[in-house]
Amino acid sequence: MSDTALFPLTDEHKMIRDAARDFATNEIAPIAAEFDESGEFPLKTIKKMGEMGFMGIEVPEAYGGAGMDTLAYVLALEEICKVDASHGVIMSVNNSLYCHGIMNFGTEPQKQKFLTPVASGKAIGAYSLTEPMSGSDAGTMRTRAVRDGEEYVLNGRKSWVTSGPVAEYIVAFFMTDPEKKHKGITAFLVEADRPGFVRGKKEPKLGIRASATSELVFEDCRVPLENRLGEEGDGFKIAMTVLDAGRIGIASQALGIAEASYEASLAYAREREAFGQKIGEFQGISFKLADMKTRIEASRLLIYNAAMAKQQSKGTAKRYTLQSSTAKLFASETAMFCAHAAVQIHGGIGYSKEVPVERYFRDAKITEIYEGTSEIQRLVISRSELGLR
Ligand SMILES: Cc1cc2nc3c(=O)[nH]c(=O)nc-3n(C[C@H](O)[C@H](O)[C@H](O)COP(=O)(O)OP(=O)(O)OC[C@H]3O[C@@H](n4cnc5c(N)ncnc54)[C@H](O)[C@@H]3O)c2cc1C
Repeated sequence: MSDTALFPLTDEHKMIRDAARDFATNEIAPIAAEFDESGEFPLKTIKKMGEMGFMGIEVPEAYGGAGMDTLAYVLALEEICKVDASHGVIMSVNNSLYCHGIMNFGTEPQKQKFLTPVASGKAIGAYSLTEPMSGSDAGTMRTRAVRDGEEYVLNGRKSWVTSGPVAEYIVAFFMTDPEKKHKGITAFLVEADRPGFVRGKKEPKLGIRASATSELVFEDCRVPLENRLGEEGDGFKIAMTVLDAGRIGIASQALGIAEASYEASLAYAREREAFGQKIGEFQGISFKLADMKTRIEASRLLIYNAAMAKQQSKGTAKRYTLQSSTAKLFASETAMFCAHAAVQIHGGIGYSKEVPVERYFRDAKITEIYEGTSEIQRLVISRSELGLR
């Protein structure tokens, strides 16, 4: 059982958490292993999640969303990720990396056109910052956007785009002034049916295999001025502000994986016997369970704290970078710790595709990498504490 009893969850929070739990148990659990194996994108279940309001939880109803708060979002996401981290990352990117940026920086016409279809789950959104030669260091990006009258011409190759093979709309970042490095980045909203937009190589992945990840190629792709998100040069600020929100989502994904690993381990430790006793009676196993449980509950506190900081920041320019980075760092390392322990507790069967802990182990790793690696989180946290830029 998770220890949420002390949190002031409203009836609405409990309702969305329970709805997500039921949906994950009834609709995702039966297909998770199969889609992990094939790497097929789970379009049908993602569409159903859209109908249930899970793809735009914090977006106001006027723009197609569910109009709920950040705590509702993390509660729902945790339940989905506890069953399948692939569905979870598609949901997280749609909510946090796509919708959140447009809600915060979009004009009214941009919200009508680009937010409503994605928040309602009718279309899928993606966020494209990373490039083959530029990941943690976004200021070195090589893609270019050049203004030509009332249009911009986009050129270059983006990489590692979650939902890249299926997204109808993309928030993408291009360099407009290379001399200014990160201050020369500009954000654009791109429709996938624009001439000059090509979906590139699909990535074969270790984990979250049912989430589709690909390159995106821009070859003289023209977008009108009204597709620019924010002002020229605002792109880095937009990208980082959006990542503050995104990291809370990835932390929730990590928490879901950690909990699934823990619950499977607890059940196995209660039933498996060795040397005439349940393996849970060996201190070597029971202490692992104690460490898993403690880290899970600490992660939960950090995530709820970050969710509340985000909620309180709404309508202000206040950032919650520190809360979001600490939650992401700790929860992702907890997911890896718990998934690693879960395979160990299961012994040989833990290494088999016949039990899901093998999938949790592969899925956990990505939470330490995307939306800022653990090294980058440590950089963000320590700079904030030291008062450095
Ligand atoms: C499955 C998957 C999905 C993804 N989805 C998206 C997406 O939807 N959109 C998107 O834009 N990107 C996405 N990414 C990209 C992801 O965010 C980057 O891979 C990540 O930020 C790291 O960048 P990199 O791979 O270029 O590694 P690099 O930046 O090259 O880092 C390599 C290593 O060096 C370390 N390092 C770098 N700089 C420092 C430093 N200053 N101090 C200490 N160590 C450092 C890193 O921590 C890492 O260990 C995805 C990646 C994957 C694998």
